[in-house]
Amino acid sequence: ATLPYDDTNIFARILKGEIPCRKVYEDEYALAFHDIAPQAPVHILVIPRGAYVSWDDFSARAEPAEIAGFVRAVGKVARDQGLVGDGYRLLANVGPAAGQEVAHLHVHIFGGRPLGPMLA
Ligand code: 5GP
Repeated sequence: ATLPYDDTNIFARILKGEIPCRKVYEDEYALAFHDIAPQAPVHILVIPRGAYVSWDDFSARAEPAEIAGFVRAVGKVARDQGLVGDGYRLLANVGPAAGQEVAHLHVHIFGGRPLGPMLA
């Protein structure tokens, strides 16, 4: 079962403006900002404005407009960063055992270098 949402998580505090971020894009549904510890030349996190713990929580509970808005935002950020030609990678860790460290849904966008095979 998904843990209840805790609105003191670091990305909730970024959404509230309590903690700064290097903002890339924002709209009604999403906020995108540079990862503080980039693993690629482009490493951006996209988060929904709504209070969702993970992809599991979001995909189960979010309204269709929120889902559409979020998916559009992820695509737009990658496009606007010029990543489509050379390709990019999306990643969402779901749950601590999968490496999720912050309990507010975030999709990683990696690009700007050859990414190689996925490692399990
Ligand atoms: P996860 O491991 O949960 O999938 O990814 C969490 C990501 O958030 C990590 O890549 C980490 O570097 C990033 N991160 C953690 N704290 C902050 C922060 O305060 N600001 C930003 N911009 N990124 C953060």
